[in-house]
Amino acid sequence: MSTLIGPALAADLRRRGGFDAQACMGCGYCTAACPLGIDMLPRRLFRYVLFGMDAEVRAELETVFSCLLCRACEQSCPAGVHITDNVRTLRGWLLEEGR
Ligand code: SF4
Ligand code: SF4
Repeated sequence: MSTLIGPALAADLRRRGGFDAQACMGCGYCTAACPLGIDMLPRRLFRYVLFGMDAEVRAELETVFSCLLCRACEQSCPAGVHITDNVRTLRGWLLEEGR
């Protein structure tokens, strides 16, 4: 069962190192460019963060740590979302909290 915590999760991540996903329009260019074909980031996982769905974020730990941080997705993003910075911040959050 998910635990909804509202905007606290996104605010926490912004304090830790920045988290920027509100400009995402869900176009999918990032997924098309990803060498791993990751379809979770950022169209779903980043939305979980913005909605404060911490349990859903924790459940995607493997996805967060499988990203190569290659930035191919960012180079294709028309909205300028800082995808890899968001992934780094998410990794710190997951590790520090022992999630
Ligand atoms: S390319 Fe950018 S705007 Fe499009 S879904 Fe990916 S992060 Fe969102
Ligand atoms: S940075 Fe991560 S999500 Fe983006 S293209 Fe590379 S492996 Fe895929």
